Amino acid sequence: MPGATPGPMGFTLNPYRGCTHACTYCFARDGHHHLGHDTGEDFQTHLYVKTNAATVLRRELRTGKTGDQWVMVGTSTDCYQRAEGRYQLMPGILRALTDYRVPFTTTTKSALLRRDIPLYAEAAQAANILVMTSLGSLDDRVRRAFEPAASPPRARLDTIAALRDAGVPAGVLIAPVIPHAADHPRALDALVDACAEAGAVTVFPDVMRLSPGARTWFLAQAAAHLPPRLHQRLAASYAGSRRSMPPHYVQQVTDHIHARAAHHGIPRWQDYINSLRTP
Ligand code: SF4
Repeated sequence: MPGATPGPMGFTLNPYRGCTHACTYCFARDGHHHLGHDTGEDFQTHLYVKTNAATVLRRELRTGKTGDQWVMVGTSTDCYQRAEGRYQLMPGILRALTDYRVPFTTTTKSALLRRDIPLYAEAAQAANILVMTSLGSLDDRVRRAFEPAASPPRARLDTIAALRDAGVPAGVLIAPVIPHAADHPRALDALVDACAEAGAVTVFPDVMRLSPGARTWFLAQAAAHLPPRLHQRLAASYAGSRRSMPPHYVQQVTDHIHARAAHHGIPRWQDYINSLRTP
């Protein structure tokens, strides 16, 4: 879930470039431009697969270079996108991190992660780990409009619950909160309540930001597929080169989510991580 990375934590690891989940706002679209592709259709159809990711990771871990820093897996592109079903890179990566007892996070919008829950349960015995599911709305219409190939909200919540049942720490990246489409206080309350019910150990809120590479695609998709009034409001909010909503809006949404989470006894992400570091 690029653009909403809780950090800094140390090292990042992304086994794929490009992402078939095709989220219209995706921050990683910019990276595809650097590879000589366009940031629209190409980003979600031209994938780079690092088939030697686990081998290279083991080589790096053998040097001890990560020390006690966390490795963040899947923060740029989704490591459980559709291609992972075919290439199965994550099991090897998880085994390497577990063997070297490295603390790590995984971030995803995909229920495919459930395949690897036994490996996460093992990893959680070896080191601090945290699986973050990215979920910005309970409304599947929002998912279909902005994240067409990501798992439905219910499937993501079920994944969190399954992880917790297996004893794996799992939190929610409440991101991106999409202004005008998914920012109503009652909708945010319902989302946080659902996270609590699933057993989330922490939440990290983030309001949608639009990188230069994502803006054109996002607004074109919004114009083509959203009701005109919603498209107009989004276009006005991110007009010109505006990348984010005004600070007071971001603060308001963030505070609202944190307050609802606190009501359930769910700590902020930073507090949760700090509590792990405390002996
Ligand atoms: S799942 Fe993450 S990486 Fe993939 S398109 Fe969506 S925001 Fe981008």
